Amino acid sequence: MANFVLQVPNSVRSLTVSASASSNGSPPLSYSASSGGGGGPVILELPVDKIRRPLMRTRANDPVKVQELMDSISEIGLQVPIDVLEVDGVYYGFSGCHRYEAHQRLGLPTIRCKIRRGTKETLRHHLR
Ligand code: ADP
Repeated sequence: MANFVLQVPNSVRSLTVSASASSNGSPPLSYSASSGGGGGPVILELPVDKIRRPLMRTRANDPVKVQELMDSISEIGLQVPIDVLEVDGVYYGFSGCHRYEAHQRLGLPTIRCKIRRGTKETLRHHLR
């Protein structure tokens, strides 16, 4: 972990930028600038079994793609997080199906997610 303090002249306050490397080759965990209460997406590792997948039974994944992702994720880690919607503290996934199944099959406890907050209306829109 490295910390860089940028001193900005005059009335502008100093900013702290942090960078870190992760052990499995995945990009480092990051938070959006607005994660302290704003509305921007946040990238976090979530437990695989905490993500509800309401459409899971409506589509089958391509088993070859899942196997290729399993091999790649084992080797270099997940490079692109899956998109997750958070509504009232419950997490919903509608895409990233192959990456999600690859994590399940590998028995990985967590998956890197790009989390956006939404309302019940957003959720209804996804379920339509
Ligand atoms: P999904 O249903 O998960 O979106 P796709 O086959 O449509 O499956 O896309 C796979 C995605 O996984 C691509 O966007 C690719 O960039 C991403 N990805 C993330 N990590 C890896 C990895 N380690 N190896 C290969 N692809 C990866």
